[in-house]
Amino acid sequence: MQELNGKTAVITGASRGIGAATARELANCGVSVILAARTLVDTNAIAEEINQAGGKAIAVQCDVSNYDEVAAAISKCIEEFGHIDILINNAGVIDPIARIADSDPQKWSQVVDINVKGVYYGLRAAIPAMESQGSGVIINLSSGAANGALEGWSHYCATKAAVLSLTRCTDKECRENGIRVIGLSPGTVATDMQIKIKASGINPVSQLDPSAHISAEWSARAIAWLCTEAASEFCGTDFSLKDEENRKKAGLI
Ligand code: NAP
Repeated sequence: MQELNGKTAVITGASRGIGAATARELANCGVSVILAARTLVDTNAIAEEINQAGGKAIAVQCDVSNYDEVAAAISKCIEEFGHIDILINNAGVIDPIARIADSDPQKWSQVVDINVKGVYYGLRAAIPAMESQGSGVIINLSSGAANGALEGWSHYCATKAAVLSLTRCTDKECRENGIRVIGLSPGTVATDMQIKIKASGINPVSQLDPSAHISAEWSARAIAWLCTEAASEFCGTDFSLKDEENRKKAGLI
């Protein structure tokens, strides 16, 4: 991970779960991090913890469904740290879980605003700066749901499929300009999201025993590895952590 030392990153959804673990992991690798989420009190506490441990971290309040707030988070990284090397498009939601016939159209649309538009907004705001410097890495949080169908998850499956499409389109447009973009499909991870899934009681994922989940820290280690050149072969694809070979490549086992 030596090559990450001195880089800069914006991590969306960094107030808890995979995003918070990724901010800590990247900071441990010497990356200066911007933690972006709606709950500033939580991102502030994590940023303070990183700074006290000798890292560099700044918390910004950011709702990824608002383009101006996402653009401001990217600008903050450039203003404070001089450049943006890494974007982790991690913010995402799964609630409310409901069958299509019972779903609330407004809430369904809000998931599109966060899970799809939020990722597009990150790409739109970061790519021009990355293109002008001729380098950059973007990790989009995907899911097995991008390729599968699960009862009660139409909003989540449809939006993660769209994220995979954004990963492919970005790779097509930006690879020749030095930008590496990879999706991460982590499998099930022990975060608040899985607590909500379990409480729903809908579909087989809600029936999983919590011991089946990997930790947020493991996902974060994989994300840090995906930010290195060693992961270049996965550009434009979803990298699945369910695959044992991939776990080995990422140094997790
Ligand atoms: P989590 O524990 O529920 O955390 C979600 C994060 O997203 C929080 O930091 C939350 O912060 C942020 N967020 C939600 N809405 C936001 C918004 N509008 N603007 C900015 N930030 C927002 O979930 P997680 O498990 O860490 O999930 C992280 C990513 O991994 C998601 O994209 C998820 O789909 C993906 N993923 C998770 C699993 C799993 O099993 N956990 C599996 C596959 C993929 P605030 O509420 O403070 O804004």
